[in-house]
Amino acid sequence: VIMMGQAEHSVVTTCAYCGVGCGFKAEMKGQEVVRMVPWKDGQANRGHSCVKGRFAWGYATHKERVLKPMIRKHITDSWKEVSWDEAINYAASEFRRIQRDYGRDAVGGITSSRCTNEETWLVQKLVRAAFGTNNVDTCARVCHSPTGYGLKQTLGESAGTQTFDSVMHTDVVIVMGANPSSGHPVFASRLKRRLREGARLIVIDPRRIELVSSPHIKADFHLQVRPGTNTALLSSLAHVIATEGLIAEDYVAERCETKAFNEWRDFVSQPANSPEAMEEITGVPAQAVRGAARLFATGGNGSIYYGLGVTEHSQGSTTVMAIANLAMATGNVGREGVGVNPLRGQNNVQGSCDMGSFPHELPGYRHISDNVARAQFEQDWGVTIQPEPGLRIPNMFEAALGGTFKGLYCQGEDIVQSDPNTQHVAASLAAMECIVVQDLFLNETAKYAHVFLPGSSFLEKDGTFTNAERRISRVRKVMEPKNGKSDWEVTVALSNALGYPMNYKHPREIMEEIARLTPTFSGVSYEKLEKLGSLQWPCNDDAPEGTPIMHIDAFVRGKGKFMITQYVPTDERSTRRFPLLLTTGRILSQYNVGAQTRRTPNVMWHGEDVLELHPQDAEDRGVAEGDWVGIQSRAGETVLRATLTDRVQPGVVYTTFHFPESGANVVTTDSSDWATNCPEYKVTAVQITRVSQP
Ligand code: SF4
Repeated sequence: VIMMGQAEHSVVTTCAYCGVGCGFKAEMKGQEVVRMVPWKDGQANRGHSCVKGRFAWGYATHKERVLKPMIRKHITDSWKEVSWDEAINYAASEFRRIQRDYGRDAVGGITSSRCTNEETWLVQKLVRAAFGTNNVDTCARVCHSPTGYGLKQTLGESAGTQTFDSVMHTDVVIVMGANPSSGHPVFASRLKRRLREGARLIVIDPRRIELVSSPHIKADFHLQVRPGTNTALLSSLAHVIATEGLIAEDYVAERCETKAFNEWRDFVSQPANSPEAMEEITGVPAQAVRGAARLFATGGNGSIYYGLGVTEHSQGSTTVMAIANLAMATGNVGREGVGVNPLRGQNNVQGSCDMGSFPHELPGYRHISDNVARAQFEQDWGVTIQPEPGLRIPNMFEAALGGTFKGLYCQGEDIVQSDPNTQHVAASLAAMECIVVQDLFLNETAKYAHVFLPGSSFLEKDGTFTNAERRISRVRKVMEPKNGKSDWEVTVALSNALGYPMNYKHPREIMEEIARLTPTFSGVSYEKLEKLGSLQWPCNDDAPEGTPIMHIDAFVRGKGKFMITQYVPTDERSTRRFPLLLTTGRILSQYNVGAQTRRTPNVMWHGEDVLELHPQDAEDRGVAEGDWVGIQSRAGETVLRATLTDRVQPGVVYTTFHFPESGANVVTTDSSDWATNCPEYKVTAVQITRVSQP
């Protein structure tokens, strides 16, 4: 419900949807939100917003929200409302029983990029200190984990290089595997402004996204790459740059490792990587590749913005490294107007990674085997931390099916709906003995839970989010938690019940601990955030007011490192049985699994997921506009309504994934990125058949 009327007071906070991180003023009447007004002083949005941040907050008071803790012995039993103490003590006793029966590593935790830095910090601390294992992961596993890996290898830091404002100084932009108009609308308007001023645009995407051709913008090149062949396409772009004398030789000589660069140049110069040789694989005409490569290398400041269409592939990490190679080869890292810019999906996906919620990394991206880093945490927390990496989310599922993983604490993440191959996830959860879900609603994952701990919405939280430009912004409580406890207090209570004492009076104290133990955050404090509005990490003695642009004089790793990025075809290729390739994306009004936006007036703009199908493929199958179609893959089968459009090429189909009924992830497979296990959501071989209404 959107209340209209006179506000009595207002509170400045940060949007909890996408990685732009817009500042908002919540105008309040008592404990009720009257309206959300984009904050003119918000450093990420400067008074702009989109329909999600502006209108999609009513879920906080939705009637389906669960406000009382609940437990049940078996997942077939009915839920029983209990007190907070009873629920938390029951969860703690079950986790300890499982550890006694099956071993220390039979339990773990999953946190979410929807949560604050402080909440995420506490979950990884609980897992490492109270459980005594490294079995902690975050939903960034399924979106930008290849960004973390790929940028660390090449540039030395697992984060984007620029501010959003930097785009106003760019001359040529590559937008690859991202649809900013829908996914990052406030950034998209800044980008469009620059394009209207004359910046040139290269779009790399299997689908004709809005940026390719809209009233005042026309891309110079749309490289309509076949799903699954990004790495091949980037090799062919690099081939042109290397073989036509377009490399920024002085920059590379001064800034990059010579041996690795020479090996890379030899590799991309091979005839097998030429646009002509790659054309059959990528489906992109060689002349367009040559034109785009020349434009990017010679057009002035070149910047690359990319999204999940890059990372969610079996070669996601390889493609991120290929993007970094391209930026370094053309001298486009380390100043305004250039850079490598992952468009992070969720509000705090950057932060959840920074906070060490990965099984192999402590906060600040220090490997768990790093004895010095581990000793620092051991001393501060008074525990022993295991030096071996724990289980990633998909490994937890495998271990559950193998009988060695039995207990899961899942905060703010609906893994049944959001992770690929739903049947596999469901079977894994059904094999566990204690699942604790902490969320706003009884989501799909809660169907397998034994303890439900009510979560709180962003309107009820104090803390910080870190956006896609590494900008740490305050989230401020505009109303008291309707469930009676803030999310961070729930984790603290669970840790105390497990016998590992945690004692904080306010999230400010958690940030003090983050700053004490994380070198890139050592200069961050709530006081400084109040004074400066926001801070971009690294923020420390070298950069007390933060770092808007990274790698200016040298790369974080010293010299930039070119990596060999050999194209390896995915298993998800079209076959006689599954001749079409399914890819996925978002729509402006809805957000991810839709748990929040579906419970707001935004459903009036988008009430169901549909399948985009090229008219030629539709005709071959006797499918007309609005028909129901069955979608079969090697993982499963679902049904969607078809819409016919030439936004997709023949052979490619596309859908969104905002509604659980559509079952998009029933058909996605468990293929994943070789380095990080990020699922290959963006390419699934499928067959489409016309069916009667489900
Ligand atoms: Fe801004 Fe993203 Fe929120 Fe829209 S969803 S208001 S672009 S942070």
